[in-house]
Amino acid sequence: MKFGGTSVADAERIKHAAHRIVAKREAGNRVVAVLSARGKTTDALIADALEISPTPDPREMDMLLSTGERQSCALCAMAINDLGHRAISLTGSQAGIVTDTSHTKARILDVRAKRITDALDEDAIVLVAGFQGVSTAKDVTTLGRGGSDTTAVALAAAIGADVCEIYTDVAGVFSADPRVVPDARKLPVVSFDEMLEMAASGAGVLQLRSVEYARTHGVRIHCRSSFSDAPGTVVGDGAEHGAGAGPAITAVTHSTDEARVTLEHVPDAPGMAGRIATVLADANVNIDMIIQNEPAAAGEGAEMSFTVPRADLRIALDALAGLAGELGAAVRTDESVGKISVIGEGMKTQPGVAARIFTTLGEQGVNIQMIATSPIKISCVIELDRVPDAVRALHATFLS
Ligand code: ADP
Ligand code: ASP
Ligand code: MG
Repeated sequence: MKFGGTSVADAERIKHAAHRIVAKREAGNRVVAVLSARGKTTDALIADALEISPTPDPREMDMLLSTGERQSCALCAMAINDLGHRAISLTGSQAGIVTDTSHTKARILDVRAKRITDALDEDAIVLVAGFQGVSTAKDVTTLGRGGSDTTAVALAAAIGADVCEIYTDVAGVFSADPRVVPDARKLPVVSFDEMLEMAASGAGVLQLRSVEYARTHGVRIHCRSSFSDAPGTVVGDGAEHGAGAGPAITAVTHSTDEARVTLEHVPDAPGMAGRIATVLADANVNIDMIIQNEPAAAGEGAEMSFTVPRADLRIALDALAGLAGELGAAVRTDESVGKISVIGEGMKTQPGVAARIFTTLGEQGVNIQMIATSPIKISCVIELDRVPDAVRALHATFLS
C-alpha cells in the first residue's frame, strides 16, 4: 500500500491511512506500506535549499529531501501502534533499496528485502519511507519527483506481493487529468503499454519509472482513492485489457514541464546528431521529441530541435555550450512550450487519429510546433498557454 503526499498531509489523514493499513492487516494480509512526504513538504524542502544556495550540491539535496518521507513513516507507525498493532518504520536504506549514484534521480538497482520479510514474519506492519535508497557508494539518494510510486512497485516485486496498491487523491487513472478536464472518466483498466505512454507524456498520477518497473517485473498496480473504498484503476498486461477491443483512444495527457532547445547552423555531416545527443546523455538529461531539418540549400547547415524537462534546461545548456561553440552552431531556447498527447492501443488499427487531432487543434487556433508518434501515441508540442484548451478540445473529440 502506497500513500501519496495529500493522503498523509495532516494528522487526521495520517491516522486515516493508519486505519486503512490496519484494516488490511486485520483482513488477514501481510502489509508493507510506503509513504510519501506530507503535503507540500518536498517542495518546501527544495525551496529551503534554494534559499541557501542557487545550485545545491546534489548529495546534500538528497540528505535533505529524504527526511520528508521519514517523518511520515515515523508518525504513521505511532498511529498504528496506538491502534494496537505493531509497526516498524524504515528508511529506504534500512529497507534495502540499493540505487545507482545519480543523486536526485537515482535508479533502483536492487532490493534486499530481508529486513522487511523478517519483520513481516514477526507479525509487524512495515512502513517504508518512499522516494529514497542508498547508493552503491553508501550515500542517501532520492528517486526523482513522484519516486515513492517506484519504491512501492520495487518492494512489491521484491517480496512477491499480490498487488501494489497506490492510494492517491484521485479515484484512479482518468481519461485526462481531472483537474483540467472535469468530465474525464475513471478508467477501470489500463494496459502497461498505455500507462507507460501516459506517464511518459505527463500523467503524473504514476511515476514513469514505477510503470516501467511494474511491467518488467509483472507487478499488478491498483491505483485508487485513499478517501473512498471504491475500486480504482488496475494497470496490468494487455490481456486483461482486451487490447484492441475498446475505443481507439484511451486518454489525452499533457505536460507543462517542457522546454525546447534549437541548434541552428549545425554542419550537415554524418554523426552530428550522435554527438549532440551524447553530450546530453552524459549530462544525464533525457531528450524527448526531436526534429532535424535538412538544410534548405547546400552549405547552409541543418537545424535540430528537441525538448528536455524544463528543470534540466540549465544543465542541458551547460552541457551543449562547448560542442555548439566547436561546431559554430547557435543555441536558442523556448521555455513557454507544453505538450499534449493522445494515447490508445486501438490507434494501431484505426486510421485517421492524427487527422482528427490536427483538425481539432486547428479549429482551436492552436499552432503545432513539433510532432512525435509511437504505435499507440501521437504527441504535439504547442504553446504553453494553450495546453488546457487543447486538452479539453481533444478530450471532447475522442472521449466525450
Ligand atoms: P500522490 O501525491 O498521491 O503521489 P500525485 O499528485 O503525484 O499524487 O498524482 C495524482 C495527481 O495526478 C492527481 O491529483 C491528478 O491531478 C494528476 N493526474 C494527471 N493526469 C492524470 C490522469 N490521467 N488520471 C488521474 N490523475 C491524473
Ligand atoms: N515526496 C516526493 C515528491 O514530492 C516523492 C513522492 O511524493 O512520490 O516528489
Ligand atoms: Mg505522485
